[in-house]
Amino acid sequence: MRKNYLLTPGPTPLPPEVRAAMARPIIHHRTPQFQEVLKQANEGLKYVFQTTGDVFMLASSGTGAMEAAVVNLFSAGDTALVIQAGKFGERWTELCKAYGVVAEVIDVEWGKAVDPAKIQAALKANPKIKAVFTTLCETSTGVVCDIEAIGKIVKDTPAVLVVDAISGLGAIDLKTDAWACDMVISGSQKGLMLPPGLGFISASPKAFKLIEASKLPKYYYDLKKAKKALEKTDTPFTPAITLIIALVEALKMIKQDGLENIFARHKKMADATRAAMKALGLELFAPTAASDVVTASKVPAGIDGEKLVKTMRDTYGVTIAGGQAELKGKVIRFAHMGYIEEFDIIAGISCLEKVLAQMGYKFQMGSAVKAAEEVFLK
Ligand SMILES: *Cc1c(COP(=O)(O)O)cnc(C)c1O
Repeated sequence: MRKNYLLTPGPTPLPPEVRAAMARPIIHHRTPQFQEVLKQANEGLKYVFQTTGDVFMLASSGTGAMEAAVVNLFSAGDTALVIQAGKFGERWTELCKAYGVVAEVIDVEWGKAVDPAKIQAALKANPKIKAVFTTLCETSTGVVCDIEAIGKIVKDTPAVLVVDAISGLGAIDLKTDAWACDMVISGSQKGLMLPPGLGFISASPKAFKLIEASKLPKYYYDLKKAKKALEKTDTPFTPAITLIIALVEALKMIKQDGLENIFARHKKMADATRAAMKALGLELFAPTAASDVVTASKVPAGIDGEKLVKTMRDTYGVTIAGGQAELKGKVIRFAHMGYIEEFDIIAGISCLEKVLAQMGYKFQMGSAVKAAEEVFLK
């Protein structure tokens, strides 16, 4: 037998309450019972998104909700500004290209966060920019972006601010309304403790002005249809009923813990993980803007990063993530997001120590676990 630990930046482990909810019998969606479920889901989502506006649910992964943002905001030939600081920033550029939207790109070195002044300068230089695409946590590098500062800049321009918060929402702070985020995108399988399959998208009144004018082709992802249905506590098409029932359970757990406590728990897990990496002599990939949901560390010289991740997973059942694209084999990513707590982190770090030792890496055995425990003791 083997016990498995999932410490990846999506999917994340499922609480027993969520799994049990998914075992319930299916119900029909055009019924008062499901309307009650939808009502609770909508209220809970507003709490997590920290908005009084609407949050729409789509039966898609997070990327589907990103696509919904692009097809609903623009007409062909429109211009967008994309902050590209990793693999997920690049996805915004690719989506724009796919729909004939001109993407003006601010390229940020992987491992660094964008300087908001650059966004201000770009908006000033090109008044045709209709939207600014950002990423709350760039999961490929572990960097968190200062959305609050960017919100202050974009708010006073005609452009809307769109935030990919797929990894991070419900785990680190993102105030949709207070930080002037016009569209916030998320997905179910990260901070929200659900299986993959639900995409979320909020839209401000400023975003809705663009949505009304948008001419890009769309059918399933048409947010005007979603809004009309939501007004009657309904959905335009068959919703992912089972996932939405599970979402209500997850949202209940989030409400019970309280966002502030959840953010504090994630910060502590991140601090402990970072302290452990330091104790091992593993350099953080993003030392200056490290996110509290995923820690990326450089693989030490002489160690095969892909083999390290594979051995942890296949021999010991502890799944962490390796590097993506240009970081393949060069970093390991240790997620501490969602239904994860102190002793999951300790187990993960302990496994990392074991495999590093087996691979011949020289360090003081137990030093990383000790460093993490010291953070948790504080
Ligand atoms: C996981 C992730 C995505 C992709 O989401 P899917 O659900 O796989 O489509 C996009 N952006 C960020 C920042 C992510 O972490």
